[in-house]
Amino acid sequence: MGTDPAPDPWEVARHWPVEQRVEITASDGTVWTGRVMPPHRLTGERVLVLKLDSGYNVGVRIEPGTRLRALPAEPRPDRPAPVPSGSASPISGPIVALLTTGGTIASRVDYATGGVRPVRTAAEILGFYPKLEREGPVRIVPVLDRLSENITPEDWVRIAHEVVRAFGEGARGVVIAHGTDTMGYTAAALGFLLVDLPGPVVLVGAQRSPDRPSSDGPENLAAAVGVARTAPLGEVVVLMHADLSDHRFAIHRGSRVRKMHSTRRDAFRSRNIPPLGYWTEGQLELTGPVRPPRPGLPRVDGGLDPGAGALLWLYPGLTPERAAAACEGLRGVILAGTGLGHASEVHLPWIRAALARGMVVGMTTQCLEGRVDPYVYSTGRELVDAGVLYLEDMLPEAAYAKLLWALGQSRDPAEVRRRLLADRCGELDGRRRPEESP
Ligand code: ASP
Repeated sequence: MGTDPAPDPWEVARHWPVEQRVEITASDGTVWTGRVMPPHRLTGERVLVLKLDSGYNVGVRIEPGTRLRALPAEPRPDRPAPVPSGSASPISGPIVALLTTGGTIASRVDYATGGVRPVRTAAEILGFYPKLEREGPVRIVPVLDRLSENITPEDWVRIAHEVVRAFGEGARGVVIAHGTDTMGYTAAALGFLLVDLPGPVVLVGAQRSPDRPSSDGPENLAAAVGVARTAPLGEVVVLMHADLSDHRFAIHRGSRVRKMHSTRRDAFRSRNIPPLGYWTEGQLELTGPVRPPRPGLPRVDGGLDPGAGALLWLYPGLTPERAAAACEGLRGVILAGTGLGHASEVHLPWIRAALARGMVVGMTTQCLEGRVDPYVYSTGRELVDAGVLYLEDMLPEAAYAKLLWALGQSRDPAEVRRRLLADRCGELDGRRRPEESP
């Protein structure tokens, strides 16, 4: 007489609800304890995805000999009750406002697609960052839930108004959690839009989402909150890892920073100036001249005219027809030229015609460092003689944000040119540095 075959444990495991705490003992004796996660598209057959207590996600194969045990849910002692947006925090001290806009720093893996997507609520953010209020109160204000490749110039204006509102509601400093892809653009734009800042505005991102054990989000966010709460700064900065150590964070001027690496934690670098300072294990060190906080409340100085300006990268083979078509109907364009700020001579006729129509044309360089100079080669001389503005050591992305702001201030090309050439938030320095001598 045969015995009944043992029930297949997979038939039990595959019906467990998401978030159920379980213990799984494989036939070789290995024990896994964690919470059930939903499967994603790439999950293999008979594989249960578990979030271990360490934070790692593993896929465990449920073989016929695997033993299963459902466990009671555990309270999470380190998770405080969520502080809804705008409510008073039980912790005392200077308030930091945390504006969330999406990006990896406020995203989780979407198990339906296997991709990362932003979360939407203050409670979800606190769930990711339970220690956020360890040093003092943080008021979370969800503003957007976008990956930063989807952020628009209109969003820059909206974020600027939220910054003003946060200071008006008593914040000592403001942190903006933002995707890293276009964080440099937003930081530059905020530098042009916001005036009279009474405290720091710190943009911060992460290269790995906070539901991954390797996330750089918690360290970056804690450092950004620390800087926003304590630094004597009245300007817009970007804070990210200074190196791979998890202990040292660089503070970059918002108009001088670029994402230089697609994956490294220390992807952000100041361009053409050193970082303003560092945050190392809770200590602030400012290493250069910074804009001090202003007494009173800040304001948004005008708006932008996003439809009136563009940024155009000049490359070998770009035809003048294509370039001219890209600039049709605009009041201004920033060219990212080669080397010292050059354009192929084939572009001279359309640039001259555009200038004659009153379009403002600014020149920056594609080089990762250095300034433009029209007086070295004949191509530069012809462009400057035609009326192209050489924008010194400004980054193309900062020059583009500044152009939209200048176009939003005035319809007079002379006034737009004047604004483009005047330093506003440390984005432009006309003085040649000793190391720039030939
Ligand atoms: N694509 C993402 C974003 O910029 C990357 C990140 O957040 O780091 O939103």
